Amino acid sequence: MDNLIYKSTRGQGEAVSASQAIIRGIAEDGGLFVPNYIPKIDFNAKDFSKFDYKELAYIVMSKFFTDFTEEELKNCIDKAYDDKFDTNEIVPVKKIGNDFFLELHHGPTLAFKDVALSILPHLLKTAVKKQGINKEILILTATSGDTGKAALEGFNNIDGIKIIVFYPEVGVSIVQQLQMTTHNGNNTFVVAIKGNFDDAQKAVKEIFTDEKMRSQLNEKGFMFSSANSINIGRLIPQVVYYFSAYLNLYKKGEIAEGEKINVVVPTGNFGDILAGYFAKSMGLPIDKLICASNKNKVLTDFINTGRYDRNRDFYVTNSPSMDILVSSNLERLLYFVSGENPEKVKSLMESLSTKGEYSIDEDMKNKLQDFYAGYASEEETCYVITDLYRDYKEAIDTHTAVAYSVYKKYEEDTKDATKTVILSTASPFKFPKSVMSSIDKKYDGVNEFELIKELSKIGNYPIPAGIKDIDTRPQIHNTVCDKKDIKNVVLNFLKIK
Ligand SMILES: *Cc1c(COP(=O)(O)O)cnc(C)c1O
Repeated sequence: MDNLIYKSTRGQGEAVSASQAIIRGIAEDGGLFVPNYIPKIDFNAKDFSKFDYKELAYIVMSKFFTDFTEEELKNCIDKAYDDKFDTNEIVPVKKIGNDFFLELHHGPTLAFKDVALSILPHLLKTAVKKQGINKEILILTATSGDTGKAALEGFNNIDGIKIIVFYPEVGVSIVQQLQMTTHNGNNTFVVAIKGNFDDAQKAVKEIFTDEKMRSQLNEKGFMFSSANSINIGRLIPQVVYYFSAYLNLYKKGEIAEGEKINVVVPTGNFGDILAGYFAKSMGLPIDKLICASNKNKVLTDFINTGRYDRNRDFYVTNSPSMDILVSSNLERLLYFVSGENPEKVKSLMESLSTKGEYSIDEDMKNKLQDFYAGYASEEETCYVITDLYRDYKEAIDTHTAVAYSVYKKYEEDTKDATKTVILSTASPFKFPKSVMSSIDKKYDGVNEFELIKELSKIGNYPIPAGIKDIDTRPQIHNTVCDKKDIKNVVLNFLKIK
């Protein structure tokens, strides 16, 4: 095979190296960077089971980040997967009843986004150095909750990089808000925006495309970059834990060499499940990729009918990190199932932006056979939390519960007995209100910080360090700004003008 390089899903612009793709985040034509082929791994469970998480991470990532030297990549991996995670397995698998939960929430902010955001800053810093760029990088991120704190942790005190996180004044949970406003780092800044997530996201996008602002910052030695989930520096690190989960089941004697497994992924922006698709394409024995949505079930409808339609009501649910109607990473899947046809992707994306919908042809639809899709209502999400606690005294968070509920329906519909791994994307401590009310109605109306202590007691789990005493930490960030003032807030933070 030729050297692996990155191209835009929409076909315009030059092909770039991995480090350039990481720095740019998004292609010039508005498309997403995709590798020109998905590399294969000569996988067999017996030989691979001797590798620990970091060794596995190197094997997978080195296939994609081809212009990083072995030393550079290993250095990034060492810095990312250390004692920030409360287990050296990094992503352990827990068996509850007959089901397997891949726990991706053992990082500093208690959500799976830590797995990618703890390495992205190191990849970015290395990439900037490789490309001989001598500007300071400014990361601007709008968050609906989980990305913000994970990015603050990941980029904390990394020299050469500054980060500003914007979160909506309304919409984030109390725990999520405090995680951000009590964050202490010398290169980090947190701002609440008056409005909802869409307002925050839109305001940030406007800065990115403001030419005047860009050149003003450029003159002062700054350059923009992005930490959101369309960056391949976030996508590829997620491929690793699918391999890790498979090997975990193999080592426990749950599956035989070469036996296929299913995975169930609670999905929002389609990044996590796309990483699973990459793992499968690389040669990991995965059968079905089960895409689980909440009440915002645009992906369930798409996978089942071939028609994507965002013209519908938006719901705020008890799994807020999946409340999304435009799943950006789906564009990469469209690219692959169209037979790597950028013209087709471009016209579908144009239709999405002008009409809010598009339909794929039969050929493309047939290639979605790897996927199964379903959704869970808020009530169904609560029911499975209730059931698991009643039967096994285990608490799961609401996002994981969406996946679990969809899996139970899948099992019933298909009678498929393939061993299945459910991705557990957040700790129940992050959403104490919804989790505890599902476990027992008597917790309705109880203060969130009391609920955290109570959850620790009834589940016999220690309170994770990331949120311990969060209600008594000093508030560091209390800037609230209007959408129209956001540019001044950025300039002030950088001490420009
Ligand atoms: C972001 C998030 C998701 C959705 O992941 P995508 O990669 O956007 O599909 C699911 N669960 C939790 C807890 C999250 O924070």
